[in-house]
Order: sequence, then C-alpha cells, then structure tokens
Amino acid sequence: MGVLCVCRLWGRKRGGRWVWMDGSAKITEIKGVGEKTAKLFGKLDVQTVGELLHTYPRDYEEFKEPVAIADCAAGELCSVRACLVGNIAVKKVRNLTVLNFVIRDAGGQIFMTYFNMPYVRNLLKRGLFYIFRGVVQSKNGKLAMEQAKIYRPEEYFKLTGILQPRYSLTAGLTNHMVAKAVRQALSLCEFPRDYLPEWIRVEQGLEDYRKAVEEIHFPPDYESMLKARRRLAFDEFFLFILMLRKCRENNDVLENRYPMEDDAQVRKLAEALPYKLTEAQRKVWQEIRGDLQGGFAMNRLIQGDVGSGKTILAFLALLLCVSNGYQGAMMAPTEVLAAQHYESMTELTEKYGLPFRPALLTGSMTAKEKRRVYEAIQCGTVNVVIGTHALIQERVEYRDLALVVTDEQHRFGVRQRESLAGKGEDVHVMVMSATPIPRTLAIILYGDLDISIVDELPADRLPIKNCVVGTEYREKAYRFLAKEVAAGRQVYVICPMVEEGELEGVENVTSYTEKLKSILPPEIRVACLHGKMRPADKNRIMEEYAAHMIDVLVSTTVIEVGINVPNATVMMIENAERFGLAQLHQLRGRVGRGGHQSYCIFINGSGKPQAFERLDILNRSNDGFFIAGEDLKLRGPGDLFGIRQSGLMDFKIGDVYQDAGLLKEAEGCAERLLAKDRKLARPEHGALRAYVGQVLGETDFRTI
Ligand code: ADP
Ligand code: MG
Repeated sequence: MGVLCVCRLWGRKRGGRWVWMDGSAKITEIKGVGEKTAKLFGKLDVQTVGELLHTYPRDYEEFKEPVAIADCAAGELCSVRACLVGNIAVKKVRNLTVLNFVIRDAGGQIFMTYFNMPYVRNLLKRGLFYIFRGVVQSKNGKLAMEQAKIYRPEEYFKLTGILQPRYSLTAGLTNHMVAKAVRQALSLCEFPRDYLPEWIRVEQGLEDYRKAVEEIHFPPDYESMLKARRRLAFDEFFLFILMLRKCRENNDVLENRYPMEDDAQVRKLAEALPYKLTEAQRKVWQEIRGDLQGGFAMNRLIQGDVGSGKTILAFLALLLCVSNGYQGAMMAPTEVLAAQHYESMTELTEKYGLPFRPALLTGSMTAKEKRRVYEAIQCGTVNVVIGTHALIQERVEYRDLALVVTDEQHRFGVRQRESLAGKGEDVHVMVMSATPIPRTLAIILYGDLDISIVDELPADRLPIKNCVVGTEYREKAYRFLAKEVAAGRQVYVICPMVEEGELEGVENVTSYTEKLKSILPPEIRVACLHGKMRPADKNRIMEEYAAHMIDVLVSTTVIEVGINVPNATVMMIENAERFGLAQLHQLRGRVGRGGHQSYCIFINGSGKPQAFERLDILNRSNDGFFIAGEDLKLRGPGDLFGIRQSGLMDFKIGDVYQDAGLLKEAEGCAERLLAKDRKLARPEHGALRAYVGQVLGETDFRTI
C-alpha cells in the first residue's frame, strides 16, 4: 500500500558531518544513481531513498554448490559446471532467434536452448568450463535447459553461501544495480531512534528497526530474514490499524441522509434479467436495500466468491440510488475492469430502458475528456460515474452523491477508501471483495463494516475441469489450446513475470508470447498483457480480447481482478507453484463464466512433489474459503517468500492470510497504546507520533 511506504528521517554525510535528510530525498542522491537510472527506478514507483529501502526483495536466491549433471533431477533448479561441446546451432523461427547446443561434464550432457539471446554465441568458448544455472527439464528422456544463466566459475563462487536478494526489475535495471543502490542507501543513512515504544518491541520480541531494514535486503541467513520480515510486517499492520482507528473515529454510526424509497424499476430489472437471482443474491440484496432505506448510512462489505454475481447487486443498488434522484459512483481497481462495468451498465440501460446516465472516468482519458465528465457529474447530467482512482482526484465534484460502490476492495488502501467516501457527505458505502477473509480478520481490516456474504454460485455453471501437471505436459497443453481456439473459444495463459531475466526458472509474459506465436498455428492470434504497459494499451488489448479479436492472451496477474469474458474457456497457469492458492482460485474464476465447459491447467514449474501436493487442493475444491484455509495449513513459515496469497490490502510485506496472528497482535498493541495515550502526547511516544504524522501527511494528531 502506497501510503504505508513509510519514510523515516535519514541522516546523510555532507562535508564530513551528518546532515539529517528525510526519506523523501531523491534517489539521485545515492552515488551511482544518475538521472537515467532514476528514471528506471521510477518505473518501479521508487523515487526516493525511503521508497528504495522499502522496496523489499521479492525472493532470495541461494547459489548452491554446482552438482554433477548425472545428479540433476528434472524440474529442479540446478547449477552445473560443464563445457560446451560441438557447435552452437542458430535457427530463425519467424522473428525468433533460437540457439541450440550441448554441454557436458564427466558424467552426462544437457541440451541447451536460448531464445532471442544471440550474444550467448560469443560468450562461450569451447573447452572452457562455465556454470549453467536453470531449471532442468526432461525431454524424451534427455535432460534439457532453456534460457539458463551462464557464469564464469570465479563469478559464481562469489555468490555461493549467502542469500542473494532478488528484486522486481524492469528493462535496463538489473538486480545487481538495485542491490548496489540499496547497499549505498543503507551505508549513507543514519537511522534515528526506533519509533516503536520499547514495551511493544520487548513484548513482541521484535527486531530493531534498522537491523530489520538491513537484513530484509541482505540477510546473513534464513532466520535473520524471517526476523526482519516479522518486524517490518508488524510495522505495516500496526500503522495501518492506527490509521484505521483515525478513520473510524470520524465515521461513527451516521444517520441516513439519503433515504431511498422502493422503486418499481428495481423490481422490474430483477425480474427481467435473463437469469434468476440466486437465493444468496436475494438475501444480500435485501440487506443492501434495508440499509439504503433504513435509518443509518450503509457501511457494508459484500464478500462472495468469484463468479457469485456481485456486480448485479451493485447495479441494483445504484439503480435504486438513481431512481431516487441521487448520484452514485462505482470504483474499480483497474481501468479494464472499470471499462467493463461501464459497458455492462450501458448495455443493461439500453436493453431495459433504465434511468442510468453513466459516464466512464479513468486516468488514461485526455484532460479534455475528463473535464467534460467532471462537468457532467457536477451538473448532474451524469448520474453514475464508473472509474478508477482518477475518480477520487480532487477536481471531481458531485452534485448529489449518495452511494459509493467499490469493487474488489482488497486492492485499495484506507486512504483511497476514505477520500472517496469524503466526496459526499456521509454517503452510503458498499464495498465488494472476492477474497475470502474470516470474519475476525475482516473486523480488524475493515473496521466497523457490516458484512454480507454471497455464499452460492449460480446453478447453471458447469464445474471447471482442473489438472495439475509438470512442464513436460506443455506440448499436449498447446495442442489442447489450439483445439479450443479452433472450436471458437478463447484462452488465458498466466506467467508470473513480465520480462526476461527477473527470476531464473520462472516464465515471463514477453518471451512466452513470442514462444507461443512460433509454436501455435499462425492463424491463432496471440497477444500479451501486463502491468507495465501503458493503461491505454492495456485497455485496448482487453477490449480486443473481449471482442474476440484475440484468441490467446498471455498475461500477468493483472487479469486476476474481476474481468468477465464468458467465451474464455481455458486458463493455463505457468509456475503455478509461485502463487498462493487463493490467488490461483481467483485466476481460475476468469473461466467457467459462460455455458461452455471450461478448463484450468496448473503447471508446476518446480516439479517438486510438495508443490504438487499443495496445488492438488485446487483439484479437490471450488470453494475459495476452503482453499485459502487449507493452503495455510500446508505451508510453514519457511514458505513465506515468493508466494503471496493475494494482493489483499496491498501490504508490501505482510500477508493478511499467513500473518493473521501477527495482524491480531498488532491490533492488540495498537488498542492498548491508544487506551494509554490517545493522542500519543507522551514524550516516550514522540517518535511514533512524528512518524505516524508523517505517514498520514499531517502533524495534527488530534483525531487519533
Ligand atoms: P463476481 O461476483 O465475480 O463479480 P460477476 O458479477 O462478474 O461475478 O458475475 C459473473 C457472471 O455471472 C456474469 O456474466 C453475470 O451476468 C452472471 N450472473 C450473475 N448472477 C447470476 C445468476 N443468478 N444466474 C446466472 N448467471 C448470473
Ligand atoms: Mg466482480
């Protein structure tokens, strides 16, 4: 969560003495980071020294001693010491350059393949030994590696023995560059006094703040990394809860300033829909209606598994709102999803002659387009505005805002939630989430929201057929994809990474798209989608996919949230072992939305039996609540990194699922702290007060 990207006061040496600077110092202050590099960091949302230090590794790599080829197991990430034998064959397949060669040690050989890396040819000298590092695959009984990293032995042995941080990267920015900048930043900064009160640190056995920041980046061992992580996750939760308390105090139970009367239109729509609402939908709709018509402002969380039909509930609520002469707003976490909601609403409006006058408002619109929408909202010609964060920008003024719906709430921070609600006066707030969280956690995370659960899927759904397989199944899978496309269906393929070189042995969208284009029949239209694309491009691709101008969409998890393309029937997920099961379940929810039989193929890229066991839970259940619970039971604290359950609340390091215990502890501490010292006025809380004030962007702490 952006707002929790906590900046501290940092000291910096200038002219031989320490000068205090705060975390907002530009990263160009760091030696070796020039304007050009700073621009690359900017792409990762890192502008300041503070942000850099709070850009945690997404994973750690352990460079183990190389093994003999004879000891390599298929599916494992291995390093082998071997030399090139024979020639390097170069092939051109459409716009793809493919290199093939063989490496050998005393006991065996491996077939190597590189895509679009022609320079590898000049890197290797015959007869010399190199270390090749990558995931070993077994192809027709022979060992093979694709895109393996190549090291000179002396280079490699410098890396063995410690945990090496792996950061999220972007083209032009290497892991080495990030690690070096972080090291520099750490050595430059003098950390002030730890802001957490001593009693909390002692009681919770928390690591010192400075040590935690250092060791999350460069842990001497696994245990130190876990301790560092625990401290930083605690901080994140603790501050989040302090902020929440502040918000909560401002919106205690409010009277209903926008009472709504029953409207015939609403009942008519519910009856005219091409499907019957499920019992669960009816029940939750009654609760929503009860709020809108009752004595107090609505403040309700709607939880329901993917595909349970939450959107129509939002539309019904908005319809009641506009029929009563008010305005409504609906906010989505991505432009793609916002556009989709807008289109669905427009379609319903035309089909059933509804009184909606919707407008779409997103960040990628031109200033002129936006201005037109702002005006229309202000004068009331638009009565429902659907959009992304752009919605909450200052210039939007509503004439008569009464209801704010937030879809996929778990993606938003408190700050965003609060500022949209603040647009109207004491408006009704309805938030929707497909990520199941137990009631106890929901109460901590969502404060005083009432909770409704849509615990039933529409009856007409064919259950999705799943399979969990190793990488050797790929060729078969590609034939299957081609068959489905030939039958008129569409396909999603998910890879964890955006581009080459982010993590070894992990598939990336960019190369994978090229690979699929060369493997699948040429008439199949393959396109890619990822979070680093410009919003306008993302929208275009998603629209083309929805309009069936694209058959196969290779994407990162940006499509995870709420997209609805009923014609898509296959979801193939590469490196499924790297995702939390709850997230995989979300991804699976993108298919099985129409009348066709749908399929989900989970590829276990690690080949490890434990990963098969974990992924197998998805085979056994279609119940998101159950899946998330089982996943937690199976994984120990050793599996903390690399796998996230979901982007729930977008905490940077804490994970609401796996750190549920810590979250509860943090809440307990926050409560006790505020009970003792409501305004954090005591001298021993001075550092915390300054700290929280800085995060909240204000010095006045009165409301806490
Ligand atoms: P989610 O809860 O994941 O947001 P959506 O609201 O996108 O789910 O609904 C998924 C699909 O199910 C949509 O195509 C929607 O039209 C359809 N749908 C919603 N309610 C029902 C129902 N009661 N019966 C059949 N289909 C429904
Ligand atoms: Mg949805």
